[in-house]
Amino acid sequence: MPRGEGMSDDVPSVADDLPLLYRAMLPELVALRWPEESRATCADCVMRPDAPGLRPGWPTFADPSRCCTYAPSLPNHVAGRILRRGGPGAARLRARLEETLDGVEASHIHAPGAMRRAYDGRRPGDFGNRTDLRCSYWSQGRCTIHVDRVASCRTWFCRSVDGRHGQLSWSALRAGLFAVEEALAERCVMDGEPPGEGASMEAFVEWYRWCAAHVDGLPPQSLAPERGAAIRAAVERRDQPLPDVVVPLVTHRVGSGDDLGLSAWSLYDLTRAPGWLFRFLSRLDGQRTWREALTATRAEWDAPIAGDWPERLWRLGLLSRPDDHMATSHDIAIAAPVSVQQVTVTGRYTGHPPRRE
Ligand code: SF4
Repeated sequence: MPRGEGMSDDVPSVADDLPLLYRAMLPELVALRWPEESRATCADCVMRPDAPGLRPGWPTFADPSRCCTYAPSLPNHVAGRILRRGGPGAARLRARLEETLDGVEASHIHAPGAMRRAYDGRRPGDFGNRTDLRCSYWSQGRCTIHVDRVASCRTWFCRSVDGRHGQLSWSALRAGLFAVEEALAERCVMDGEPPGEGASMEAFVEWYRWCAAHVDGLPPQSLAPERGAAIRAAVERRDQPLPDVVVPLVTHRVGSGDDLGLSAWSLYDLTRAPGWLFRFLSRLDGQRTWREALTATRAEWDAPIAGDWPERLWRLGLLSRPDDHMATSHDIAIAAPVSVQQVTVTGRYTGHPPRRE
């Protein structure tokens, strides 16, 4: 999810910017490899209508806010960190609160109801294109709360260097971070004195700042470690090498002829398909090896076929193990409730972070 224009796209670790508490609850953040998503360059958006490589008929993001046509919910302690940090993010957050207290709760600041309904009712092609869906915290080409952005914004990319497997690993991480965010928000509500019904904006501002300070003061050793098994499994799955026998996995097909694009997970992450590809894919029957299929395809195709294609297709997720039933992000979302020092989060928390495109 975007860094602001003019910001660096070097992303050494997803643990950057996160409170130490998050790292204590999710050690996988630091221990596992999280590649730089170099195919989703935000400062030079790969989805803008004139971006190189896009073909006629492929989806684009025409609104300047691009993938920030979204309505994130801020947990109370995150809102407090933004307010405490000051600067443009705090100013945007205050402007959001001044506009209306609709969606403002002790546990979260949600988008106002009208915006939530507009986002939930979006139609294909609206995401990235409808100006009225712009996030409240986006301004003049950048996210004003980038350092404190929530799980859904930290882990969403229009494209992934590891294709479908990369997306699944980010989805698992999103579920883990979301669980931590929710657990801490709930903990604040239980430990503190939230504003009552009809409270003023300033009362909420004070409350959110208290939540940030309270979370900072929670001793890491008293926190139950977050469940990271799903994250570890998704990363291991992402990093597995190309096996000898694979089958095709294509979920999206856009355009035709020279403009045909294929993907194994998203309309936005299309790979242009050369003419020989379908002959190759049609030979992957779960019995013969991909080398045999490639040799047979080369024998009937006039032009040369580069030998690195199978590896590329595997990394993009367009090839799959025969026994790998196609997983979705929901399949690997953390399903168990989260515990923070005897506080078990149930009810509102479903184990699934908010969905976005
Ligand atoms: S908080 Fe808003 S502006 Fe920032 S990354 Fe998320 S959607 Fe974009």
